[in-house]
Amino acid sequence: MSEDTNLGSMPLLASEGEIKHFDQGVHMLQLWVNVCIIETDEGVVLFDVGLLFNGPRIVEEVRAITDKPVRYVIYGHGHADHAFGVKAVIEDAKERGHPPPVIIAHENIPKRFDRYQEMLPYHEHINRIQFDIPDEMPAYVRKYIYPNLTYQEAMSFRLGKTTFELRHAKGETDDATWMWIPERKTACVSDLWVWSCPNIGNPFKVQRYEVEWAQGLEEIAARSPELLLPGHGSALRGADEIRDACHTVARALRYLHEQVVTMLNQGKWQEEILQGFEWPDEFTKSPYLAPIYGHPYFIVQAILRRYHGWFDGNASHLFPSPSREIAGEVMGLIGNPEKVIERARALEKEGQTQLALHIVDFVIESGAEKKNEALELKAQLLKSLAEREKSLIARNIFLGGVRQIKKTLRKQ
Ligand SMILES: [Zn+2]
Repeated sequence: MSEDTNLGSMPLLASEGEIKHFDQGVHMLQLWVNVCIIETDEGVVLFDVGLLFNGPRIVEEVRAITDKPVRYVIYGHGHADHAFGVKAVIEDAKERGHPPPVIIAHENIPKRFDRYQEMLPYHEHINRIQFDIPDEMPAYVRKYIYPNLTYQEAMSFRLGKTTFELRHAKGETDDATWMWIPERKTACVSDLWVWSCPNIGNPFKVQRYEVEWAQGLEEIAARSPELLLPGHGSALRGADEIRDACHTVARALRYLHEQVVTMLNQGKWQEEILQGFEWPDEFTKSPYLAPIYGHPYFIVQAILRRYHGWFDGNASHLFPSPSREIAGEVMGLIGNPEKVIERARALEKEGQTQLALHIVDFVIESGAEKKNEALELKAQLLKSLAEREKSLIARNIFLGGVRQIKKTLRKQ
């Protein structure tokens, strides 16, 4: 995996990134997110249109390539980094006297936009944590440009001498589209390919789809693309590598699915499954599955949520007492918060940072004296976990915890 395939190092600013030119009028603007620009003799097709503030840069790159109108825009899925940069493209069409582009998307995208509008403060809140967005910046877009043409399973259109086949798949979302251009043996696949362990079971987000994602990748591989333009990171080239890449990720997803289902059938509960699932060396070492964004542990959580309710198997937890009361009872018995904090420090030294966090939480949650000392220790433990953590999502959750503690301490 080259340096620039690491999601964490992708430039997020509109002024950075670069345009990649491939054969036969296929281009990819590689920002933090990718935008595919396909030229035909009758105009341009854009697949994915980046974040809202990427819009002007997209127009600039299209206009450096051609004066022809942008005839179609396809949303690869409805996430903010793929479907929100279209405004500038529409404005450019108006200024040039071109007809507005037809925006095509899967039929679930309008429902997603409706949900975003209904739950805007919630999405602001969770995305601020997930992407470590400072308080003074908006964390989510408020206005959405809906597609004017939707489809259910598949649709095709021709522009000039080129065919564009759109196929629905489920993966990170229930509204994904991948596009196949047979004459150019090119697949534009949005976040069905991201150079990371798939982002399934994101700790904040709605259900995602491991088996369907695998199926989507298998369908893409079956076309034997020579060029695969992903949602993030570098393009993949050559039929053999693309087939191997798609099949490796598909196999990993099916493997996790199979394990969770088997363990559920054996009557195992959530904790046992989360502690007991296997992630073989082949996957740990694969450049296609680096846990830099998603994480296999999160995927197992998603599969559990898909098939199982929230009961964890321990009847004590069905209607639990508040954590504060449980911690208060335990701390009352120990009688000495200093002892607990000392033990947490010892665990940290032994490399058991996670266990240290659980211990120190008893002091914090009970509201016992030494609470501030415990909070400071917790911040330090979270920072140390963040430094070691590869997954951007997990790292930002740890850092969000540190920020929260700092706010609490400042308020006192
Ligand atoms: Zn994305």
